[in-house]
Amino acid sequence: MDIGKAYKATPKAKLPPVEALLKTMLENKLVDKVLGAKVDKDVTQVKPEAIDKPENIKDMNLPTYVAFNFAKTDSAAKFLHKSMGGGLNSKVGLVARPCDMRALVELHKRRQVNLDNLITIGIEEFGQIEQKSLKKFFTDKKIDPAKIKSVSITSPDKVHMNIDGKDEEFSFDGNLTICRNCSNCRNKTVQNEDIKASFLSSDVILTPMTKKGLDVMEKASSYLTYAESSFNGESILKEMEAKGKAKQLEEIEAFRKKTTEQKLAALGACTACGICIRACPVCFCVDCVLMNKRKAKKIDQYTFQLSRIAHVGDTCVQCGKCDSNCPKNLPLNIYFNDIALKLEQKYGYVTGRSIKDIPPRANVTDMRSRYRKH
Ligand code: SF4
Ligand code: SF4
Ligand code: SF4
Repeated sequence: MDIGKAYKATPKAKLPPVEALLKTMLENKLVDKVLGAKVDKDVTQVKPEAIDKPENIKDMNLPTYVAFNFAKTDSAAKFLHKSMGGGLNSKVGLVARPCDMRALVELHKRRQVNLDNLITIGIEEFGQIEQKSLKKFFTDKKIDPAKIKSVSITSPDKVHMNIDGKDEEFSFDGNLTICRNCSNCRNKTVQNEDIKASFLSSDVILTPMTKKGLDVMEKASSYLTYAESSFNGESILKEMEAKGKAKQLEEIEAFRKKTTEQKLAALGACTACGICIRACPVCFCVDCVLMNKRKAKKIDQYTFQLSRIAHVGDTCVQCGKCDSNCPKNLPLNIYFNDIALKLEQKYGYVTGRSIKDIPPRANVTDMRSRYRKH
């Protein structure tokens, strides 16, 4: 087995490939805990959970996590930082979307996460289903979400659902959609991961990307058989990235033609509820000055939102969690995407790409002094 080579992974028993990797990490004490996924009531509501015993690793129905992401404001990066100590004092194994990986890189730079203590399985995926479109879709199709057993997206425009034992295929046709932010995502390829796990087809394709990842995959051979594969997920994703980029540029161009008054007016519906802050994987201040001012009724909605945009503008990894969770449907991703493009055009800076890239707003001395000696 070689680093950088793709392998089709077939389970020897019931445990699916990624779960087998996580169990192997715990069994061999390569990590103290893993960040897993669990479904409570219905498959659209996937929750993160910390697991420390190998015997507690079961089938996590990961294609469902890939289709919906963690419910509401949760994400792998947020949960790792908030509920698992960021891997600062313990070793953690986790599954992460490409935008989670970018968030981990930004959090590492700010000493909130220690990537050296993590074993990451970065997933290749088509994007996540827009939660807000689901309720209407289920009503229109008379589907009881509690009867859906599994969901998987195996092409950019189609989703498969197993409803009460029966397989059905649905198109992303306007009623059911991929998240706005995912459809114009221009960073779909996963980076900095130890193992790449591709969920772009009905097979699970694993690629060891680092020595750490190779070690886990080799040790997991008691659960999995591997066969070299010519599957190239990156070429599929690059094509989608190009489309996403064109769409994003079109939106940004239209946004830049707006007057400042129009840009401000679009933020007028903000109620300063703070859900976007709760959802943001790179918002980590323990004592949030914006929420404090909001509780004291000392801030208006424009100052609240403009301050937040200014604060996280160069940390934003374009995950879209704020945008998809905003109860007022504010087009937050356009504001952040506009800043991201400016940072890239002016400084060549892309958030989450590498731990070596220093954010342009921080001077070198400042960043060096803030770096934790991991
Ligand atoms: S924003 Fe991009 S990387 Fe993140 S879930 Fe959507 S498609 Fe994937
Ligand atoms: S932008 Fe949306 S989520 Fe954020 S505080 Fe305003 S209303 Fe709430
Ligand atoms: S500001 Fe929004 S899009 Fe950017 S990282 Fe935070 S939640 Fe994601």
